[in-house]
Amino acid sequence: MTTANLLEFDLEGLAAFCERLGEKRFRATQLFRWIHQRGASDFSQMTDLAKSLREKLATTARIEALPVTTQHESADGTIKWLFDVGDGNAVEAVFIPEDDRGTLCVSSQAGCAVGCRFCSTGHQGFSRNLTTGEIVAQLWFAEHFLRKHLKRDPGQEGRVISNVVMMGMGEPLQNYSALVPALRTMLDDNAYGLSRRRVTVSTSGVVPMIDRLGTDCAVALAVSLHAPTDALRDDLVPLNRKYPIAELLEACKRYLAHAPRDFITFEYCMLDGVNDQPEHAEALVGLVRQHGISCKFNLIPFNPFPASGLLRSPQARVLAFAKTLSAAGLVTTVRKTRGDDIDAACGQLAGDVKDRTRAVERMAERRASGVASTSGRTIVLHQVREARPSSKASSTSNIPNIQEH
Ligand code: SAH
Ligand code: SF4
Repeated sequence: MTTANLLEFDLEGLAAFCERLGEKRFRATQLFRWIHQRGASDFSQMTDLAKSLREKLATTARIEALPVTTQHESADGTIKWLFDVGDGNAVEAVFIPEDDRGTLCVSSQAGCAVGCRFCSTGHQGFSRNLTTGEIVAQLWFAEHFLRKHLKRDPGQEGRVISNVVMMGMGEPLQNYSALVPALRTMLDDNAYGLSRRRVTVSTSGVVPMIDRLGTDCAVALAVSLHAPTDALRDDLVPLNRKYPIAELLEACKRYLAHAPRDFITFEYCMLDGVNDQPEHAEALVGLVRQHGISCKFNLIPFNPFPASGLLRSPQARVLAFAKTLSAAGLVTTVRKTRGDDIDAACGQLAGDVKDRTRAVERMAERRASGVASTSGRTIVLHQVREARPSSKASSTSNIPNIQEH
């Protein structure tokens, strides 16, 4: 008989499961605490549950984490785990410790179907959505591993992870039905009890799902903007052809009515000679003013990988860009690079993806022709210089290094 993996359920789902077992719904709260607050994976540990319930659970349920393939620890304390999700696919999560917080960057998909030019996950193609349990398992494992590793006491007091950012592999809003129960589990006081302000969904701009998230589970929102015009963004973030910038920004404005913070974070990956010129910064200022949107900018130095054919903007240009935005009254941060030595920075995660979308060939075709055909129109891509050979040739996907959201 197949058993249910209880990591798949938010509290509501677990209560429904308990009811199906003929148990009172409140039992779910106890069970939920054991699983997420105490990190229990064995029902026999749950001594305050009735023996009859423990016996029922032993035959109908399980608490199954993801197998860890590798773990790398950086000199700066960043830890990166590679989790096996079966069928040759693997996803990564990264823990970034800072003085006043601990951030976990979580993956939502094995690969990504959006196919951004500067993102190695996009270059890997798409295999499948992660389930709720596979998303939650990354946090479950990391939190309880770190408590032991850092010798914290069990229970809320010793919580190590204070922030979660959905900035690992995948587009979280293209895996909406699995994402929302996972977010609810992160926020639940009987589980991780994270503040809505400290859970961030990062999206390349799936407009209808931004609206749904606002209603279903409003957490902090980061939007990967990367360009001030549709012509350029169409090229860098192909989803823009479906949801152009004006629609995206209007969705962001609607989201602010629900958001736990009074601003949207715009992420902007700085690509040498592509989107980092003074006119791009000025156009961004104009765009944000035109839409009257309350926002902050987070400039991300591009983490190069050879197949992208793109280069990182020089530091001076990043700072000049930041200055233009700041001078216009837009709060702007430049993301610190963390975990470089273990390829844990943005764009450097190396999950394995069994591509089902011919992403590698399609990207190569786009680069070779310099022209991207879309339904009904042809867009001339920007000329990009050849990438210099990277010492991190094994890098493939994108995960983060987070400064502030
Ligand atoms: N799919 C979502 C979340 C995952 S990507 C999104 O696109 O927002 C998380 C962040 O990493 C995004 O802002 C993305 O633009 C950035 N990123 C991807 N590849 C990168 C690279 N090579 N260097 C720097 N940042 C990168
Ligand atoms: Fe997907 Fe985000 Fe990478 Fe774009 S940047 S390909 S949306 S993971």
